[in-house]
Amino acid sequence: MEKILFLAHADLDQAALEALAAACSLVGELQGEWTVGLVGPGAAEAAGRIAGCGAARFLTVEGEAFAQPRYATDAAAAEALARESGASLILAAHTSRWARALPGVAARLHGRIDTHVTRIAEVNGVPAVARWFYRQRMEGVLTRSGRPWLVLLEPGCGAAWVGTAGSASVESVAAEPASRSTVIGRRAPQAGEQTIRPDAGLLFVAGAGWTKKQADGAAHPQEAGQLILDFLRASRASLGGSKSLVDLSGEGQAVLPFMSHLNQIGQTGSTPRHPKGLSTCCHGEEPHVVGWRFITERRAINLDPNCGWARGKADVLYVADAFQVMEHLNQLVGRCRSPAEDVRQRQSTAG
Ligand SMILES: Cc1cc2nc3c(=O)[nH]c(=O)nc-3n(C[C@H](O)[C@H](O)[C@H](O)COP(=O)(O)OP(=O)(O)OC[C@H]3O[C@@H](n4cnc5c(N)ncnc54)[C@H](O)[C@@H]3O)c2cc1C
Repeated sequence: MEKILFLAHADLDQAALEALAAACSLVGELQGEWTVGLVGPGAAEAAGRIAGCGAARFLTVEGEAFAQPRYATDAAAAEALARESGASLILAAHTSRWARALPGVAARLHGRIDTHVTRIAEVNGVPAVARWFYRQRMEGVLTRSGRPWLVLLEPGCGAAWVGTAGSASVESVAAEPASRSTVIGRRAPQAGEQTIRPDAGLLFVAGAGWTKKQADGAAHPQEAGQLILDFLRASRASLGGSKSLVDLSGEGQAVLPFMSHLNQIGQTGSTPRHPKGLSTCCHGEEPHVVGWRFITERRAINLDPNCGWARGKADVLYVADAFQVMEHLNQLVGRCRSPAEDVRQRQSTAG
């Protein structure tokens, strides 16, 4: 019988709760014994938050050393929890933190690991995982005989766990926090200018059309940049770009300086998961649209009624000038914003 360990950090973020829901569902199908392992300061309280999940044991690795996202300490904690639980199947969310630490843990345990898993379920009495191959074009379902088997579950693929809190009987596990690296601070882009937001409800895509000559015979990159930034700040949408646009920015031209290859969506870019997407000034060619595979509701604004989006790739195509539409949209979104949000935005812009 499969012994399952669900691993999470004590903050129990959205990704962790989604992975927990997947673990609960799998346990229901396999009828296996299962354990929750929590890492970091506050792990015991976190166990209380998910006490109603039905796990037989709650193991914790506590201590300040495990608060920081650091390979050595995360791997040490996960290894200690895996050994204590004796798990044959270990599930965790595919966060950058676990994705960095768990492959090394799999090697230490002489186990196997699969990453970017989008689904796990029982098939013929054994767990089987689904993941996408060849730039998200083919889905494969696979099982493994090697154990322990570590599985990282991609966020955004299922509903988060909802259940009752309570008091959990917690067992503390000792882990060796040996580490040569010390975290001395954190550097992150200024809050107001961060444009890639995986948790955002909306993906806003800018295409190369924003930099092309418009009806008056001139290009208006500065106006384009302002319209896009105003919209992102007000809506908190995540910013994506077409390859043509990010390539232009990469050449250092005076076009949308906040855009980089990290924003590129598509076959040679990323495949984000947002409930909604709005494409602007982008033609909607297949190598780009393949990156929209997991966007549930798609809309596009393009001057060209024969653009790629019109051929079944968007749910709604607005045949219109994106400059005009976005200006109007910004007024509407600005009107919906609360005074407190206005103050926050002004402060972050001034900062
Ligand atoms: C191997 C390979 C891999 C690739 N990988 C990727 C990838 O990962 N991602 C990607 O994006 N591309 C990729 N491409 C490139 C892709 O095929 C397209 O060339 C690219 O997506 C085009 O970008 P675009 O639509 O922004 O630009 P364009 O094709 O130049 O389209 C600009 C659009 O803007 C519209 N427009 C202009 N002004 C306005 C206005 N005022 N209002 C509204 N609309 C306006 C125009 O009508 C036009 O449709 C790849 C290509 C290859 C060969």
